[in-house]
Order: sequence, then structure tokens, then C-alpha cells
Amino acid sequence: MVAVLCVAELCMERVLPQTEVMHEPVCQERLQIVVDDWLGAHEGYTLESASCQSLESLRDRAAAVTETAPGHFVHEGRVADFVPDSAGDLANTGFIAGSSGVAVIDSGTTRQVAEALYLAVRLSSTLPITHHIITHVHPDHSLGAEVFKEAGAEVIGSAGLRPAALNANPVFSDNLLRLLGPRAFHGTSPITPDRGIESAETINLGGRPLHLQAWPTSHTNSDLTVIDENSATIWMGDLAFLDHLPALDGSIVGWIQLLSRMAGSPDGFEYSVSQMVPGHGKAPVEFPDGVVPTLGYLETLAAEVRQSISDGESLTEATKHIGKAQRGDWQLFDEYHLRNVTNAYVELEWE
Ligand SMILES: [Zn+2]
Repeated sequence: MVAVLCVAELCMERVLPQTEVMHEPVCQERLQIVVDDWLGAHEGYTLESASCQSLESLRDRAAAVTETAPGHFVHEGRVADFVPDSAGDLANTGFIAGSSGVAVIDSGTTRQVAEALYLAVRLSSTLPITHHIITHVHPDHSLGAEVFKEAGAEVIGSAGLRPAALNANPVFSDNLLRLLGPRAFHGTSPITPDRGIESAETINLGGRPLHLQAWPTSHTNSDLTVIDENSATIWMGDLAFLDHLPALDGSIVGWIQLLSRMAGSPDGFEYSVSQMVPGHGKAPVEFPDGVVPTLGYLETLAAEVRQSISDGESLTEATKHIGKAQRGDWQLFDEYHLRNVTNAYVELEWE
């Protein structure tokens, strides 16, 4: 189903997901109900028109995905900042299909990006989308989640995700509407998860177990990984970055501890893992080798910040030189490094 929906005189065509794959007569019957439900949940929007369209006619709007192992699909987001021409397609996302259902991991920043991923799912599988897993609170991974809730998925994150999202989503929304512009952000309405995972849980998509693990504060206070046992792949969320400079928004000490453990003894994991999907950059890559660039950046940052504090430097002085030797190794260094130094300094000052 698609509908042209208007807000503040801006009308755009939106994809309205269905909980099951419908043939046209059923779609026609359900159209008005789905549209009314959507309008009821989205204050300020009005309907211009709505229609049933074939999946095939929407194919060019689907996200580009690669089937990296049977039933395991990855979409690589762009390595870019929140600029209008990115449309918010900045994080790696994807989906995993078993014999009874599909789980979608992360959604992108906007409804538009999530709709594209939804179409990619539907072009690959007619199974119900049973789970939408959010790896952490950051908007480039989570703000499009509503599309998968509309598709019938249970929205799951770490136990820390709900409070973090309640706190941050209004600010993320205001900022991203401004940064991406009203067209890219059209229809985007952040949600909170249906359920939080305290430590670990296994969900099964039908012959396809996914092992979800929530972690102590690292990249953020809501980090969660997903291991797809069948393909031996771990979805790291932003616990690992490639190409895109890591962004520290949690605890540098916690993050280093976690990645050191992963890099040092992958066999310590209960499940065998050989591939990983980082939150940003090339995916998939080998695990645990793929965590090494992030760990190296963080260890250097922590060492230099500790030295600076013990030398009695102020934060202002510290930001002038710390970590600058790593500038050539990463994209978006100037956008994120200064904030990383500041956050690390504020944390390590109290050690
Ligand atoms: Zn993040």
C-alpha cells in the first residue's frame, strides 16, 4: 500500500507496510483501515490519496542488500554525516530469515530509509517480519523503527534502550528534521521498544536461532549484539566501526574492556563467530579482526587522555593535540574526534 500524506503543506508518497503479503482484492478491502490507523497515530498529517501497488512497481525504491550467507542480508549505509543528500541512510542494517519469520536489525534514521529496507525484505521473503532488533539508541540506527512495528514486528532492544530513547528521541527528532530537511524526514516518528533484554536471550526464526546479548555501557548505555548462529555472524551495532571514526557516547573504559575481550578470546563466546557486521563501514568482515581498528583508536585515545590529565593539562589544551596522529586513518574525523576527546577526558578525569 502507498499513500500520499501531507504535513505542513509537504505531500509525499509513503509506503504503508502490511502484516502479511496481500493480494490486491484484500489490499483494497484493508486500505482505508490501514490509512485511518496511520493518520490516527500521526498528528498533523492529512491524506491526499492512497492505493494498492504491486511490490514489483516499488522495486526501484528498495534498499540495496547483499545476501552474504543463505537468508542473511546486509545493507551498507553511507559513510557520511547527517547531511540532506544522505537522506539519513548512514548505518548498516539488514535482515535474517528463518523458516517461520524474519528479523530486521536496525532501521536507518528516517521512515524513508526504513521503508526501503522493508521493501527489500518483502522482495526476498513472504514470511512475517516477527522481530525488529535495535542495536542501540542512536538515531541513525533506530528512528525508522516504526515501519517494522507497523509491519507487525515485536520491537526489541537492550533493557537500557527504552529509557535512553524516551530521553533522547525528542531531541534527535528536532535535530534531524533540521539537519536532513523536511523531505528526508517526512513521516518519521520515533518509537520506544516493546521489550528490553536485561542480559541475554535467544529468539528463533524457525531453524534459525539468533542470540541477543545486552552489554554494560560501552559505545552507549544501550548496546546490544546479535549472533546469527547459522552464518556464524555477529551484528556489532556501533561497538565496532570501520572507515567511519568511532563515536564515543558511553564509557571508553567499558568499551575497551569489551572489545579487548572479544579481540583476545573470541573462543570465550558461547557461540562460534567468524564474521561481523560493524555499525558503519564495510560489511561483513572477519571477526574478531574487524574490531581491531576501533579498539586501537580507543586505546590510543585513552592513553593520551590519561597522560594529559597526569601532566595537569586542561581539557582545552588536551583537545589541541590528543589523537591527531590517527586523523588519516578515518573518515569523519573532524566531525567526531573532538567530542570523543572531551567525553574521554570527562570520564577519565575521575579515575
Ligand atoms: Zn551509535
